[in-house]
Amino acid sequence: MPFCPPAVKSMPPVIENIMATCYVRRVEDGENPAPGHDAAASVRKIIHVDMDAFYASVEQRDDPALRGKPVAVGGSSRRGVVAAASYEARKFGVRSAMPSITAKRQCPDLVFVPPRFDAYREVSHQIRAIFHDYADEVEPLSLDEAYLDVSRDKGSLGSATATANLIRRRIREETGLTASAGVSYNKFIAKLASDQNKPDGLTVIPPGKGAAFVQTLSIRRFHGIGPVTAAKMEGLGIFSGADLAAKDAMWLAEHFGNNAEWLHNLARGIDHRRVRSNRPLKSLGGERTFFNDLIADTEIREALAHVCTVVWDRAAKKGARGRTVTLKLRYADFQTITRARSLPAPILDGAALLAAGEAILAPLLPTPQGIRLLGVTLSKFEGEEDEDAVAAPADLLSLI
Ligand SMILES: [Mg+2]
Repeated sequence: MPFCPPAVKSMPPVIENIMATCYVRRVEDGENPAPGHDAAASVRKIIHVDMDAFYASVEQRDDPALRGKPVAVGGSSRRGVVAAASYEARKFGVRSAMPSITAKRQCPDLVFVPPRFDAYREVSHQIRAIFHDYADEVEPLSLDEAYLDVSRDKGSLGSATATANLIRRRIREETGLTASAGVSYNKFIAKLASDQNKPDGLTVIPPGKGAAFVQTLSIRRFHGIGPVTAAKMEGLGIFSGADLAAKDAMWLAEHFGNNAEWLHNLARGIDHRRVRSNRPLKSLGGERTFFNDLIADTEIREALAHVCTVVWDRAAKKGARGRTVTLKLRYADFQTITRARSLPAPILDGAALLAAGEAILAPLLPTPQGIRLLGVTLSKFEGEEDEDAVAAPADLLSLI
């Protein structure tokens, strides 16, 4: 795909500048290898496994004094946010993403514990090892939940339900924690099903029962429909899957544009997405091509800062902590150079990424000729050989 559509060149200068500022191309290696749709596939067997109140349960497992108590993982300060709540805390209405101050008001006895990501990662490794005994295709959604495609019956257990039960039993025995599972013929329904009998529950929705199941549920539970879309739907009188199913494709297209077909399918229990194993992320970066070549040091440094901001945003969302920073410059004559620097420890914030980028850039200034492209890549991720660099809980990192 060409980076700058040719039409852009003829736009007035102001628009060119806006586009140049907004458009940093993703450069990424190691993700999303498989095509997303495979509608012709025969009926699949999908399991969604989800640990129960994961972070809070790990804390209660490791500290007997916390058992039976309302526990919130997260910061208790004024600006703190609840990252996870134990079931005892949930009875008081405490929920993840709730401001800690609100949680404390709802549940005065709430015990706050700081997160211990190393402990959560360790459990995550254990459960993924179990998943891989029964499925070749395992797609983690976060540290504590994953889709498994067990159509092939790798474990020779005879059924997806038997497989899900054995996985849950092994998780309990090997980690001391409980998991819930949903078994169905697609990802969307399997995920809804795992949530149906929490904690420590199993729900099986066979082919032929999916549409009826989906139609009984609130659209607030549909994975992929965020709070904004849910509110919009409710404003239009759609509260349940049945309400959604009652709308025809034309009506949906009018109100939800490109999402109409997807919504139409969901309401009927149809989801063609495949379970996609994440390959480990090897590198992550961004690069920007300029409409006018950059000459002045200040311009070049500004461009570096912009690209670093975008790259860091994406790294933070993925929880990817890299040690090697690579700067790429393409000159007016199309000569391209790359310079890399590896740091002793992973980069933990955007300022450190920028500092590393500036240190690489400094000896290359003043530039001998105009620069038409500047890129920054982050690599050498912590735990590179496993999947955690990809699957760290992005929302949690931004909440704490
Ligand atoms: Mg969970």
